[in-house]
Amino acid sequence: MALIISGIGVSRGIAIGNVHLLNRGAPEVFERKLEEHEIEAEVERFQTAVDGAAEQLRSIRDTIPEDAPKDVAAFIDSHLLMVRDSMLRKVPIEIIQEQQCNAEWALKQQRDKLEAVFEQMEDDYLRTRLNDIEHVINLIQQILKDQQFTVQMKLQPLKGSIIVADDLTPADTVVMQNQNIAGFITELGGPLSHTAILARSLSIPAVVGIQSARTLLQQEEQLVLDGSSGMVLAGMDESTIKEYRQIQREQKDARRKLGSLKNISARTKDGRRISLQANIELAEDISALKKSGADGVGLYRTEFLYIDRETPADEDEQLSAYRKIVRVLKGKPLTIRTLDLGGDKEFDPDFQGPLTQNPALGLRAIRRSLKDTELFKQQLRAILRASASGPVKILLPMITSDVELVQSLSILEQAKEELISENKDFDENIPVGAMIEVPAAAISANILAKKLDFLSIGTNDLIQYTLAIDRIDDQVNYLYDPLHPSVLKLINITLQAGRRADIPVAMCGEMAGDPRYTRLLLGLGLQEFSAHPSNLLEIKQIINKSKISELEKQAKKILSTTVPNKIAPMVDALNE
Ligand code: PEP
Ligand code: MG
Repeated sequence: MALIISGIGVSRGIAIGNVHLLNRGAPEVFERKLEEHEIEAEVERFQTAVDGAAEQLRSIRDTIPEDAPKDVAAFIDSHLLMVRDSMLRKVPIEIIQEQQCNAEWALKQQRDKLEAVFEQMEDDYLRTRLNDIEHVINLIQQILKDQQFTVQMKLQPLKGSIIVADDLTPADTVVMQNQNIAGFITELGGPLSHTAILARSLSIPAVVGIQSARTLLQQEEQLVLDGSSGMVLAGMDESTIKEYRQIQREQKDARRKLGSLKNISARTKDGRRISLQANIELAEDISALKKSGADGVGLYRTEFLYIDRETPADEDEQLSAYRKIVRVLKGKPLTIRTLDLGGDKEFDPDFQGPLTQNPALGLRAIRRSLKDTELFKQQLRAILRASASGPVKILLPMITSDVELVQSLSILEQAKEELISENKDFDENIPVGAMIEVPAAAISANILAKKLDFLSIGTNDLIQYTLAIDRIDDQVNYLYDPLHPSVLKLINITLQAGRRADIPVAMCGEMAGDPRYTRLLLGLGLQEFSAHPSNLLEIKQIINKSKISELEKQAKKILSTTVPNKIAPMVDALNE
């Protein structure tokens, strides 16, 4: 009998193969009290296991081909850094010594402590770091349990299989890719986990979040996995499998053809030129940016110059990071978003304060920058100085009121005056824009637009704040709806405000990179899309086949539809 299960598709593509069940979870750990004389040997046993974990990660890293996307090695490197960090290398030894307990128990206690800290964090990226720490701790626990344990040992031979596991680490993903697996399914994880990101980089079709996958699916049974829809099919007849093989071939062909669009501009059939820009955050994104044929960078998230490192980047280090991208862009614009720090994404203990119940509503983004104007000004100086080397724009996050905008512009003026008195070059007319990611900003977009050169709609936060759902809370994920009538109205109000003020409006949230919404957004009048570089060619293909004059009428109808579940079929119809 056919079985259809649905999860979260995190890496596109159809995989057809036989199930290989895996259990990668943490081994069970018990406490054992030690005699005084046993402590030294236990510390040594722990150190050997940690060294063994580092050695394994190093050798997996060595198997990564030179031409693999940079983030593949970067994720393994970040695990290597964790193995070297005192939180995993030193603290458990102190626990062994102080509590006279076995290494497994000491490591478990440290894990529980770290988990408690990370669980307070609301930021989606930082939350995924807990997942990484757990992966590294599990590896050390496996080695403590069995000195001969290796990642490779558990994972072969897997060619052509669909792996079904509770969870997979980035290291597992690299080892599995080397063995040419067809795809994977995990019970845990979300679209932002590093394993999901790696699957996308390595083009392994993947579905996560199918909670009882290992109970529902049987070893060796044949599956079809659709990494776009998140659908997993078991028990199909031959003709269904044949159909999926055909879809698989067509998808591969379509991907190959997309490459030929790189040097063609995005232009609708009725001649409207659409700007397609890239969202970047890490240095590694630059190589994807080069391959994407983007018209520039519409969103450079700068937080990583501050957090997740020992000390935040100073003005000169920021300047050289910005200049590097300006050079890569060769005259195309770079939009640098000022710090979206605060709440949980904080590096300065003086600003940490008590973690509030709702960090998303706390001292974050522009609010945080306006509290620490020296830090803000330092970043503005670096951005201004970078503008001497090529076109740069400033993007202010989470502006909610005109007052915040006026204050920000005044600090920008101070930064400009300082640079003038120091004889440092910059673009005096550097364009300044605001992100529209709070309903208040969308409603007042006409007022903000008067003082700005452009607007950029951040749908990730705009949807979160409009629908009052925490964007990273799994329990309310199902309410996260870019097509909610209120969200569409706010997008429309912002686009209208831009037209009236005669300034461009871009969209840089995930919605802009989702091909399902491209035609709707074109119909609403969006002319600048900014998305992850890997999505841009597909969006371009849709744009180049679209006629805005036809889409406008449909978009109007959709805007006047007030019943949420009637909207999705209308948007689907635009794509047929
Ligand atoms: C957004 O909110 O849509 C956005 C692009 O910003 P971030 O995802 O970094 O919050
Ligand atoms: Mg945002």
